[in-house]
Order: sequence, then structure tokens, then C-alpha cells
Amino acid sequence: MIRCPKCDNETRTSGLVTAQGDVMLAGTIGTGPQPILAQVCTACGYIELYAPLQLDQPEPSRRAEEIPERSGAPETIPAA
Ligand SMILES: [Zn+2]
Repeated sequence: MIRCPKCDNETRTSGLVTAQGDVMLAGTIGTGPQPILAQVCTACGYIELYAPLQLDQPEPSRRAEEIPERSGAPETIPAA
């Protein structure tokens, strides 16, 4: 749930619609133009616009597996 940055109330997902149809965001993120998402605050009416994110976007490349250094391994215990 995205909260309103103004009053911290809940927002609802809506869209920007004209008589000609949805207001689209040119293909800056995805491949082609997609409808802009509007998060509308149900309390104060503030509208925040979001680019349409694709759920199947590949995750940001993970770092190569970090090999933990073997530290703290018990070494030879000195004889008492
Ligand atoms: Zn609000």
C-alpha cells in the first residue's frame, strides 16, 4: 500500500483518462507506451503519478556470490 506523502493516508490506484483514452507514458521503462498510474489519496485528494512498472522486470543484477572468508575457524589449541 502506497501512503500519501502529504497526510499519510491510504491511496488508491487509479489512472489518467481522457476522452481519447488512457494517458500513456512513452516507452521510457518498458518497451512501449503504457498507461500512467495515479495514486489518489482518499483523504486529501493528492495525486501522485507512477510510471507503469512491469512485474516481470528482471531483478537488478545481483552481486556475484560473495564467498565469506573463513575466519574465526578454531585453530590449533595450544596445549595447556
Ligand atoms: Zn493525503
